[in-house]
Amino acid sequence: MNNSIVLTTCPYCGTGCTFYLEVMDGELTGLIPCPTDPISEGQLCIKGRNAHVFVTNGDRLTKPLIKEEGEFKEASWDKALALVAEKLAGVKKNESPDAIGFVSSARCTNEDNYVFMKLARAVFGTNNVDHCARL
Ligand code: SF4
Repeated sequence: MNNSIVLTTCPYCGTGCTFYLEVMDGELTGLIPCPTDPISEGQLCIKGRNAHVFVTNGDRLTKPLIKEEGEFKEASWDKALALVAEKLAGVKKNESPDAIGFVSSARCTNEDNYVFMKLARAVFGTNNVDHCARL
C-alpha cells in the first residue's frame, strides 16, 4: 500500500485555502485541512471540505458530447472545439458580438477565468461575460 499527501489549493473560490489531498495507491481518498495555512488556519467551508468528491464522481463528464438528432453523442475534443468555434463565429458574423454570452465557472482558476474574460472581450468583442463571483 502506497500512501501520500499532496498540498494543494482549493479550486472552488479565489480565497485560496490550502489542504492536503490524501492519495492511496494512486487513488484520491480524502483531504485534510492545512493547519498552517495563513488564510484558513485549518478551517474549510463546506465546499472546500468536500472538494475532492467531484474528482471521482461517476456522473462527471470526461469527454465532449455533441447533440445530434436530439441525442448526445461522444465526440473528440478536436471535433467539439471546431464545432463551438464555428457556431460562435457564425453568431458573431451574422448577428452581433452581443448576441453571445460567456458564463464561466467558479471551479476554474482565477487565471482560467481571466483568460475566458479576455476571450469574450478581446476576441469576440462582447462584454456579456458573467460568473457567480462577478469577475
Ligand atoms: S475552502 Fe471554501 S472559502 Fe476556502 S477556497 Fe475553498 S471554497 Fe473558498
